[in-house]
Parts: sequence; structure tokens; C-alpha cells
Amino acid sequence: MELLRSVRIDSAGYKRVVRDRRASYEPLFASGVWRWRELLPPIARESIVTLDEGNVPLYESPQGAQFARVGKLAYLHLGTNPTGSFKDLGMTVAVSAAKAERARGVVCASTGNTAASMAAYAARAGLEALALVPRGRIASAKYAQIVEYGGRVMEIDGTFDDAFAQLERVSQGKFAIVNSINPNRIEGQKCAAFALLEARGWRAPDWVVMPGGNLGNASALGKGMREAFALGLVDRVPRIGVVHAADPHNTRASAIAISAPKSLERARREIADSNGSSLAVDDAAIFAAKAQIGREGIGCEPASAASLAGIRELRNRGSIDPDADVVAILTGHVLKDVAH
Ligand SMILES: *Cc1c(COP(=O)(O)O)cnc(C)c1O
Repeated sequence: MELLRSVRIDSAGYKRVVRDRRASYEPLFASGVWRWRELLPPIARESIVTLDEGNVPLYESPQGAQFARVGKLAYLHLGTNPTGSFKDLGMTVAVSAAKAERARGVVCASTGNTAASMAAYAARAGLEALALVPRGRIASAKYAQIVEYGGRVMEIDGTFDDAFAQLERVSQGKFAIVNSINPNRIEGQKCAAFALLEARGWRAPDWVVMPGGNLGNASALGKGMREAFALGLVDRVPRIGVVHAADPHNTRASAIAISAPKSLERARREIADSNGSSLAVDDAAIFAAKAQIGREGIGCEPASAASLAGIRELRNRGSIDPDADVVAILTGHVLKDVAH
């Protein structure tokens, strides 16, 4: 971004460049993150570790629009990424940076998806991966995935926050911490905003609504939207909606079972700057929304469905207009968390 601020870009030209890259034979540009390379931290080509992440569908959802009583609804399904969650967009940058810096390995605290993504990219990079997870609180499919990619799991008695508190001690300066407090994660994840806008022919929706856990993703989406605007790629930014679980200690949406979000301040600013909103929904609303998403042949993990539940509630409160054009972010794959 520093680079681009100092070099005035031609926005129509840049749109053409990234579009052409999609069709090119350069393996790096098979990634929906690295296609935006000029907007990312400078990392040498030989250190870049990618699994062709970031190429995700934007599904129109007429039934979902009816369910939430909004004019238009589409799902940006980030659960279709290589390890089944949006974490891959950030992890490709964070692990590449760790490799470039010659870290011995990577470490994170996780409710499952961050660790699964970290383990996959670390395996590609030839780095060790260590996951601190709250004992008994991560979905079994996510646990299996971490192990499948050769990651080591340390189970911590307590919550996500207790696992997070152990990070510095465990990393001992030799393992790069790849939670979303690592700015490289945010840089990669902001590319979801570019993908969303590009898929809509560079017309911003009225609202983009997503689930919130540590709020790294909300910060990233907000940053991406602001940068797209600053670069002249779009003529306005969408309002940002963030949806929490009403009871973060007991929710069955395990990916957002977080009571002390690590990126709270940044996300608050993104929400306020975009004239957006945040709210909490209970598990009954989350699972009703999840069933609706499933009925249209799309599917997602419970935490993801908080976005649709939140849109419905924002509409009920009158925050979202009846004719609004809304995009819901689906964060994780349907098979990630199947216990009912
Ligand atoms: C990580 C995650 C979230 C929460 O994202 P944050 O950046 O922590 O707010 C939501 N849904 C799924 C499926 C996730 O994996």
C-alpha cells in the first residue's frame, strides 16, 4: 500500500492488470491474494507459499433475501478456500513472511480454523506448526485437519483467551505468531474486499455483513474497502455490519466463541467510519439462518450463518433498508463443524 500511495495508479489500468492475471499462466496469479501483489507487503517470490487461495464464489441468494426481507442478497463464500475458511487469505501472507524471515516455525492460538490453515501453509513452506487450542472446544473436523497437515496440537485448559495468553511463552521468539494480530494476516484478508468488488463489476453493495470473533476479518474487510476507494477502484464504500454470538461462552458457533476480541479497536473504527453497525444474535437465530443457507444448496459452518441472522435482525431494527443490496460473508465450510 505504501508503494501505491507514492505511485499514482491508473485505476482502470489496474483493474485490467488483475483481470489479465486471472487468465495468465504465472502460477503465482492462480492465487486470488497474490494477484493483488502491489497492494501487499513486499515478499520475495521464492518465499511465497500459496495454495491458490482467494478464488471464491459470490452466490446470489433470492431466498436468503426473502428470509431477511432485503432487496438483494449474495454470499461471498470464503469457506470454499483450500482449507475451508477465510483464514487462508491471511495465512498465505503470514506464512510467506515467516519463511522470508527464516522463522523456525509458526504458532497460533485457535478455535480450529486458524490452526488448520496455519498447519497447511506451514507444511507447504517446510516450517514447523504449533497450535494452542482450548481443550474440548474445537470441532473434531478442525482438529483432524491440523493433525493431517502435520501440525502439533497443544491443548490448553480453558478458553481461546487462555490459549492466546500462552502464545509469547511458547513461541520463544523462534516461532512467528500468525494470529490476526500479525498485520500480514490482515493484508491478505483485505483481498476478500477486492474479490467481492471485482465480482460485482466494481459496484459496492450497500452493506457487507460478517460474523465477528477476534474481529481481524472485520478490520481486514474494512481496510480493503477503504483502499479500493482510495485507489479509485470504487466510488463509495459499503456499510460494515459485524455479528457476534450473544453468549460467547456457550455458543455452538465455536469459531466465534471469543469474549475479548483482539482487534476490537480497529474493527470499531472500520464500523464507525463506514457508518455500519454491530450486534449480537443468539444460537437459535444462527441455526435458523444456517438452515436457510443450506436449503439453497450453499451451506456453511454455524459461525458463518451469524451473518445472515444479523442481516435479518438489522433489517428488523430498521438499520438496513428494505431495498438494500447486501453481501453476507460466509466464513467457513459446511463440513467444518457438523455437531448438532
Ligand atoms: C475465524 C472465524 C471467524 C471469526 O473471524 P475473526 O477474524 O476472528 O473475527 C468467523 N467464522 C469462521 C468460520 C472463522 O473461522
